[in-house]
Amino acid sequence: MRRKDREITDLSAIASVVRQCDVCRLAFFDEEYPYIVPVNFGAVFDENGMPTLYIHGAAMGTKLELMKRDPHVGFEMDRGHRLVTGPRACDYSMEYESVCGAGVLSLVTDPNEKRAALAALMEQYAPGQTHEFHENMVDAIAVLKLTVRSITGKRMKKA
Ligand SMILES: Cc1cc2nc3c(=O)[nH]c(=O)nc-3n(C[C@H](O)[C@H](O)[C@H](O)COP(=O)(O)OP(=O)(O)OC[C@H]3O[C@@H](n4cnc5c(N)ncnc54)[C@H](O)[C@@H]3O)c2cc1C
Repeated sequence: MRRKDREITDLSAIASVVRQCDVCRLAFFDEEYPYIVPVNFGAVFDENGMPTLYIHGAAMGTKLELMKRDPHVGFEMDRGHRLVTGPRACDYSMEYESVCGAGVLSLVTDPNEKRAALAALMEQYAPGQTHEFHENMVDAIAVLKLTVRSITGKRMKKA
């Protein structure tokens, strides 16, 4: 990262940013251009704070087709936007926290892992609550698992 002063180096601090984001953008390999889609997600962290991301959705569509062709994806999420203004155009900037990374997508087929993934999704948006998942709904939706291979964090904060 060119701006080392803005890098979030601690994995637990990156995990905290992930916890507070509400949208993750996934970038797939496609033929002519990259294909990018915003999605909601759940995250499960290992003991070092490295996340595995879970995404749920329809069991068909472009992103699933592209995943089958090549499961390697990039991802990005960000939060805490605040426009910083000033007297001149070049004084303007934006505060943010963001996370970028790459990993490998796979389809979750095990019903118990699917349920755990959906619970992680709910925990991201409704923390501390418990939810029931209907069997037929769990069967019908596709759950994708993003095994994260690399991750970086960045924070822009005006002094
Ligand atoms: C805030 C937010 C949260 C979302 N959360 C989820 C989620 O948790 N799970 C989920 O499956 N989907 C979610 N979506 C919708 C997601 O972005 C995709 O639209 C959806 O997953 C279908 O993707 P697909 O590749 O199957 O597209 P397809 O239905 O196959 O359509 C492909 C075409 O539609 C265009 N397209 C696809 N998505 C979008 C989009 N969002 N905006 C504009 N054009 C688009 C593509 O560029 C392409 O031309 C969310 C969208 C937003 C904005």
